[in-house]
Formats: sequence, structure tokens, C-alpha cells
Amino acid sequence: MEAAFVAVGSELLGTQRLDTNSLLITDLLRRHGVRLRRKAVVGDDEEELCREMQGLLGRFPLVLVTGGLGPTADDVTRQAVARACGRELVEDAAVLADVEGKFRALGRAMPEVNRRQAQVLVGSRVLANPRGTAPGLCLEQGGTTLFLLPGVSRELEGLLRHQVEPWLEDRGDGQGIESGVVKVACLPESVVEERVAPAYAEIGRERISLLASPGEVRVEVTARGDADQRRVELDRLLARIEVLVGEAAYGRGDETTLEGVVGGLLRERGATVATGESCTGGLVAQRLTEIPGSSELFVGSVVAYSDPAKERLLRVPAEELSRHGAVSEPVARSLATGARQVLGADWGIGITGIAGPGGGTEEKPVGTVHLALAGPDEAQTHRHIRLPGDRRQVRWLASQVALEMLRRELLGSGRQR
Ligand code: ATP
Ligand code: MG
Repeated sequence: MEAAFVAVGSELLGTQRLDTNSLLITDLLRRHGVRLRRKAVVGDDEEELCREMQGLLGRFPLVLVTGGLGPTADDVTRQAVARACGRELVEDAAVLADVEGKFRALGRAMPEVNRRQAQVLVGSRVLANPRGTAPGLCLEQGGTTLFLLPGVSRELEGLLRHQVEPWLEDRGDGQGIESGVVKVACLPESVVEERVAPAYAEIGRERISLLASPGEVRVEVTARGDADQRRVELDRLLARIEVLVGEAAYGRGDETTLEGVVGGLLRERGATVATGESCTGGLVAQRLTEIPGSSELFVGSVVAYSDPAKERLLRVPAEELSRHGAVSEPVARSLATGARQVLGADWGIGITGIAGPGGGTEEKPVGTVHLALAGPDEAQTHRHIRLPGDRRQVRWLASQVALEMLRRELLGSGRQR
């Protein structure tokens, strides 16, 4: 089956808001083996939308539209579609009662404008929308099944799951595509590519894609078949990618974050961490505190930016600072040990570097960062790296490397036990 999607809303034609509903729709269609052939963004303009619909009806077996079902004058989807289909709009008593009921539940009377949301196209099926006021509508027109759905993503998600997905399940042969992702930290895209290369021959190049962002590469794989086959196949493919990538593969799934994985490892080991940060300004601490329940594993952070602050708050020897400079291996090590001891944690992270744009020298150019990790057995690891990019990116990459260093150490300490 083939489908088209239309996102309605003038704000989606501007620079402030992006059409993200099409991503939800695309994902759903893909999983059911439906090919999305066309997507369009149309402003809140009845004439424009009517013409767009005329071009799609009868041409695609499935057309989905989101947005413009609200109560205000700029919400024109119902009228535009009615015109394109040559159908009447009528007030539906049951829908009106439902909309009124929703306002009553909030202790309010329904404003008169909301009456418009009770208008339905003659011959259409009303799709309940418990997360919002306006229902969705579904109708058959000239060989096309047309879904009109709300623009608010949370409402749309509900309708996709409870109305559109069952319809797709009834229609389709159950065959679909599903994708999964393996996340890799701190390896260049080219290295990841080299490592996963054997899978191109095994699985097919078109089923594997790499997407790089600073400090991270996502390896996405797709599986085909019915729902059960897909799940088993996807699991096998993800496991294969993890083996090929090796230890740098830190987790699966888009929701998985490096800090989340580090937090999980700390929790498993009953260990805690503290940070002594200079150039990252507390970014590692910020990321670690994103983890729900982080108080069990994150002790605290000292952001020591000036030399005196490093001395006073984290016991960095003055002599080290004057002899090696603040951005140096000994200072990074002292920051790590200082954080660990002063804050009383099992692990200490120390970071010092030159984020730029100023402050670089020939010997220590912008992007120079020293990172150190002090562990429970007093042992330390250190890395001296040169990071690319602007100030923001250097800071982000430094935080990424710090978390990855800790993750590797925790994996190591886990294996030794
Ligand atoms: P409601 O019935 O709840 O008023 P609606 O169907 O009229 O919803 P709109 O008023 O068009 O929807 O949009 C509601 C909100 O959802 C707006 O904030 C809008 O920017 C956002 N929105 C609409 N369409 C999209 C889209 N395609 N992608 C992302 N956000 C969207
Ligand atoms: Mg709108």
C-alpha cells in the first residue's frame, strides 16, 4: 500500500516550528509495510488545502492529515476537506455532547467557538480522542481512505495507536519493517563503519545506516517480516552489530543515553562519583543528574574555574598550577583526586581544557583537554585529547569522553570481580 501525508498549520511553514508529526506517521506506516510516497506542509488556508486534497484523493489508497481541527477560524481542515470531497459538514449531536462534557469535567462551560469541533463530514466515522477536545475523522472517498487527525502530537499519538494502527493491521498482510539502533560513543564514524563493514555483506548494505553526531554514532538496522519475526530478527541484528563494534557500543535504543548507562553501572556496583570540572563548567555533573534517582550515585561537583578555586576547593597544589599550567595532566589528575576525596566519592572525574575561541597557544591549542579518572583503589587513568569544533562542541565532547572513560573503567572493574 502507498500513502500520502499532509501537515496543516501556517506555523509549520515558518522558522519556529518543524513538522514532527510526519515522523510519527512515517514510523507507523513503515512498521506496517506502507510506503509513504508524498508528504506536504500546507498553511491554514482553505483554498490551498482543498487543492492539495483534490490532488491526493483517488491517487493514494491512504491519506493522512494532521492539524487544523481546532475551534478557531484558522482551523480549516474540516471545511477544506468537505469541499474537496464535495460533502456536507453537519453538526454531530454525540460529538457535541462529548465536547461539552469535556469542558464540564474541567468545571467550565463550552465556549461557543468549540461548537465547530462537533462538525463532521457526512458519511465519516468519528474517532474518539480522549486526550483532546476534537475527535478525528475517517472516511472513504473515491478509493482513498482518509484520516483527519489532531495536530497536537500527544493527541495524535493516541489516535495513531488506537484508531489508525488497528485499521492498518486489518488491512495489511502483517508484514512490516522495524528498526533498532546501537549507540556508539567516542569513535569516529569512519572507524565504526570499518567495524560494521562485515555486516554489509551479511545483512545487506541498505539495511544498515550510520548517523554521526558529535561524540556519538548511531548504527541503525532494519528487520522485515511479521511482528514476531521482526522482533527476533532485529534482536539478532543488534547483537551482531554490538559484537562487531565492540566495547564502544554502549547501548540500544534512542532513549538510551551514555549518562544513563554510566548511572546504571554505578548503581549495579553500589559506587558513587563526583566531578571536579574546569572547562566543562559542570556539564558532566549536569548530565549525571539527568538520571532519575541520581542522588544514589552522584555525590556532587566542584566547578573550579580559576586557579585559586582549584587550589582551595579541590586541593590542587599551587606548584603544579604554576609549573605545568592549569591545562595539564598533573592538574587533571589532582582535580580527579580532589573531587573524589573532598566530596567523598568512590570515583572522581577531573577535566581541564581550552574550550576556545580564545586562550589557545601553540603548545596548547584550542580544543586541548586533559581528563583524569581517580578510582576506589587510588589508581588513575588520564587522557590528553585534542577536540574539534567551537566552544560548545569542545565542552560537549569533553563531557562525552569523561563519561566514556568512566563507563570503560566500570566495565573493567565489573569484569575483574
Ligand atoms: P486541537 O484540536 O487540539 O486544537 P488541531 O488539530 O487544531 O488541535 P493545531 O491547532 O493545528 O491542531 O495544532 C495544535 C498544536 O500542535 C500547535 O502547537 C501546532 O504547532 C502543533 N502541531 C500541529 N501540527 C504539527 C506537526 N505536523 N508537527 C508538529 N507539531 C504540530
Ligand atoms: Mg493549526
